[in-house]
Amino acid sequence: MAKINATQAAVDNANRAVQLHGGLGYTTEYHVERYLRDAKLLTIAGGPNEGHKDTLAKAVIEQDGE
Ligand SMILES: Cc1cc2nc3c(=O)[nH]c(=O)nc-3n(C[C@H](O)[C@H](O)[C@H](O)COP(=O)(O)OP(=O)(O)OC[C@H]3O[C@@H](n4cnc5c(N)ncnc54)[C@H](O)[C@@H]3O)c2cc1C
Repeated sequence: MAKINATQAAVDNANRAVQLHGGLGYTTEYHVERYLRDAKLLTIAGGPNEGHKDTLAKAVIEQDGE
């Protein structure tokens, strides 16, 4: 849960930073677009967040079944 929330927060904040910087945020002239790409990787590497959500859901269902 921590990985999902933290990595999604990183993407959301980096996305806002790109938007805030307008066209310059999209260009490679500044580091902002890099922050968004790097944040996005965090939701994929170490197993995609969708997989972690599956694992969490299975754990909750198993716990409820006990
Ligand atoms: C720059 C970079 C560095 C890396 N470094 C390392 C490293 O040092 N060590 C290492 O071991 N690996 C490393 N990796 C690999 C990384 O861990 C994998 O890319 C990651 O585990 C995702 O696997 P995949 O790319 O095969 O995507 P897939 O598992 O094929 O997933 C692709 C997409 O399918 C969807 N998906 C997947 N599973 C589910 C699901 N259960 N439910 C719903 N949707 C799903 C998601 O949208 C997901 O993003 C690195 C990858 C990159 C890009």
